[in-house]
Amino acid sequence: CGVFGIWGHPDPAPISYYGLHALQHRGQEGAGIVVTDGEFLRAVKGEGLVNDVFSNGKLEKLQGKAAVAHVRYATAGGSGLENVQPLLFNSTTGSLAIAHNGNIVNAGRLKRSLEQQGSIFQTTSDTEVIAHLLKKSHYNSLVERAKEALRLLDGAFAVVILTEDKLLVAQDPHGMRPLSLGKLDDAWVVASETSAFDLIGAEVIRSVEPGELLIINDEGVRSERFSEPAERAICTMEYVYFSRPDSNIDGINIHMARKRLGKQLANEIQIDADIVTGVPDSSISAAIGFSEASGIPYEMGLIKNRYVGRTFIQPSQDLRERGVKMKLSPVRQVVAGKRVVMVDDSIVRGTTSKRIVKMLKDAGAKEVHVVISSPPLKSPCFYGIDISTDSELIASDNSVEEMCELIGADSLSFLSVEGMVGAIGRPDEGKNCGHCLACFTGEYPTPIAPNTKLPHEK
Ligand code: 5GP
Ligand code: SF4
Ligand code: MG
Repeated sequence: CGVFGIWGHPDPAPISYYGLHALQHRGQEGAGIVVTDGEFLRAVKGEGLVNDVFSNGKLEKLQGKAAVAHVRYATAGGSGLENVQPLLFNSTTGSLAIAHNGNIVNAGRLKRSLEQQGSIFQTTSDTEVIAHLLKKSHYNSLVERAKEALRLLDGAFAVVILTEDKLLVAQDPHGMRPLSLGKLDDAWVVASETSAFDLIGAEVIRSVEPGELLIINDEGVRSERFSEPAERAICTMEYVYFSRPDSNIDGINIHMARKRLGKQLANEIQIDADIVTGVPDSSISAAIGFSEASGIPYEMGLIKNRYVGRTFIQPSQDLRERGVKMKLSPVRQVVAGKRVVMVDDSIVRGTTSKRIVKMLKDAGAKEVHVVISSPPLKSPCFYGIDISTDSELIASDNSVEEMCELIGADSLSFLSVEGMVGAIGRPDEGKNCGHCLACFTGEYPTPIAPNTKLPHEK
């Protein structure tokens, strides 16, 4: 998912709309904007792409001075309009709207206990738990209520909460999802990715820190803590795959990081081939890096139909398989008779790689060597990226040789974990250099109770 927030702007809805466009790659199943004029909170939400949801002058309904906005990628809670965020709760004691990126690992347990105390949930989303905890708190001030609620959560949460008189912004103690603070003239803005700031012309101020709670109102920004920072565990897949190439996370540009991943891969393996090609769009940067370091020329062996969305985000396997075919085509004159290195950023189920190897061979490629700019994904993600159950992960019960056979490639290589972390180049101290590596290593940065359900199983 992607979150966006703005405080202190005369026309926050169009700015939020542009911000959501720059975050669209983070979720395509729903979008919403909630605006406040200081008295009421008003929402426009819908399923589908940002463009479709806010068509026909719907933004004009949203007049005010502040907004919170969201694009939804349904890992947790399934799809459906009721789960589209921001979630808006009207109340005589103060209304609030919540937008959340990440996944709250202990949401199931918190929800059961809240239900025993009388809460009734309107959605199946883990995000609603935050609102109930906040309303249940015995503290008087909203800030203290929010802190108490946030302390009860395990997992990944970059959260933006809008009320009539303030915007609260929180980053989980491990800082698992990207979240940045920026300035647009006199207004304060926050967004999952800095790509949103570039598009609206805002200046990046800094990342929101692990365990930090920002309180933004007419007086400005105040920084408090709801928790001591825990060991930093930024999602590595944000660098490898998920974020936009023009975004920076903690000052590290995503495109440049991916290029270094490709270079590192070329340093770790030896392949004789004629051309290097990337799988558009997410692997182009890594393919360029691989080409530079290996000396094998980069070519456009595959093109993408830009009108088909991210295949992975389609919820069923059938839709995903059809999606790959509609999305990618080989450039026959480029690949025919050639030994091709095909760079992709990751293998999850193997659908994409298998399909592309066949596509390239059908187009006349002599050999197809698949190289992946990250290590094998062996364990599921509990934190909001759709890396499924063990049984769906092709690397969870197959060796590299077996996977190579399954996808029909002439060779298959992965980047090492150390190589990946080194190439991304975060300056953090500690064992994982500030990364979550759980899907590669099975070591989760937060407690995962036995029988915890994966986001999409809830
Ligand atoms: P596979 O086809 O092996 O199941 O998935 C791999 C492809 O999906 C890669 O091309 C990669 O770009 C993309 N991908 C990898 N991980 C994720 C993820 O967690 N979420 C989404 N949406 N796409 C992913
Ligand atoms: Fe990201 Fe993997 Fe950690 Fe999930 S398990 S947060 S995908 S690094
Ligand atoms: Mg891809």
